[in-house]
Amino acid sequence: MSDFDEPDSNEVDSYYEKVKADAESAGYNLNADVEFTKELLKSILINKNRYGYGACPCRLASGIKEEDLDLICPCDYRDPDLVEYEACYCGLYVSNKIISGEKKLQSIPERRPSPKEREKIKESTMEISNKLSKPVWRCSVCGYLCARDAPPEVCPICKVSGDRFERFM
Ligand code: SF4
Repeated sequence: MSDFDEPDSNEVDSYYEKVKADAESAGYNLNADVEFTKELLKSILINKNRYGYGACPCRLASGIKEEDLDLICPCDYRDPDLVEYEACYCGLYVSNKIISGEKKLQSIPERRPSPKEREKIKESTMEISNKLSKPVWRCSVCGYLCARDAPPEVCPICKVSGDRFERFM
């Protein structure tokens, strides 16, 4: 980094290439407006430098990783927003219909549950999990499921790190 928070253009360019390759290999599209896309990626790099993780550039992170896991890009809400609105909340990821021009980007309402709701969801999942002997892990980003003693280090489908898995059953 050129100073504490700001990545330089080379860092942004190489991050862009990496995120683009990862997205395309998993069947996703980055926004075709490269300048806009790089600005978002630059903000994610700034968040990585500031918090130690790449929190969503369009939302306010708490600075506590455990509380923000669902907001680490790609966030848990990307796929449902792509299905419903053809783009993620920030417009970093877009659908084929946006790429082809068949649909236009629109503003997307926040779907992240409130802290209280998130806590409730966590508690009810834990209740079900505790009744089962063999754990089933779910990738909170792409929904990949696997039954094993511990989650994988990296999701084999969308490549997010193992801390993005939650106990599903
Ligand atoms: S809304 Fe888009 S840019 Fe923001 S974290 Fe989710 S996937 Fe990343």
